[in-house]
Amino acid sequence: MNNKVIIFSAPSGSGKSTIVNHILSLHPEMEFSVSATSRQPRGTEQNGVEYWFFSADEFRRRIAADEFVEYEEVYEGSFYGTLKSEVQRIWDKGNVIIFDVDVKGGVNLKKYFGDKALSVFIQAPSVEELRRRLVARGTDTPEAIAKRVAKASEEMTYADKFDHVLVNDDLQVAFREAEALVDGFLSD
Ligand code: ADP
Ligand code: 5GP
Repeated sequence: MNNKVIIFSAPSGSGKSTIVNHILSLHPEMEFSVSATSRQPRGTEQNGVEYWFFSADEFRRRIAADEFVEYEEVYEGSFYGTLKSEVQRIWDKGNVIIFDVDVKGGVNLKKYFGDKALSVFIQAPSVEELRRRLVARGTDTPEAIAKRVAKASEEMTYADKFDHVLVNDDLQVAFREAEALVDGFLSD
């Protein structure tokens, strides 16, 4: 059974989802770990596709039932977590798991999976550029963008806890770097 996992973490707006989706499009043997969250769905998001959407009460009940590998209250009142059942579901199929989690979650998953895991920190060229990208993405309210930008500087300090730091300036260059990291890890 192939039980490798790949973890991508970054402050929100760095380009993590864009890079993860690119890698997934190249690798049919990889599967995205659908996290659980207590935040509201955004735009076209669907339950079971981008996230499992739970109420805060339901999320807390599942924490108490020890259903998570890891979870964080990433933003005040908004929980996010990796369900043990999701990891098992993907491994049962023999697929490689790809995670898109916040920086603390990324560090915790790396500790949990050890050498089975490749952890990559995606870094925007600057906090100002990250803010511009969140505004251009057009999916968050000004308040949500302000919360995310305010958190980014502290989150950047986690970069050295990852196996690799990938600077996402020119997207095509970042794609090539991500591909090389993933291919190197999978061929080991
Ligand atoms: P995250 O998942 O880290 O929150 P996204 O992948 O949603 O970030 O990217 C945030 C926004 O920035 C999106 O609108 C995306 O298209 C854009 N983006 C991603 N990478 C780049 C880049 N290298 N240059 C310019 N814009 C980018
Ligand atoms: P968003 O609300 O933009 O979808 O995600 C906000 C943050 O939560 C992102 O940094 C995202 O990677 C993170 N996140 C998503 N799923 C998980 C998870 O399962 N665990 C943790 N710790 N963070 C997550």
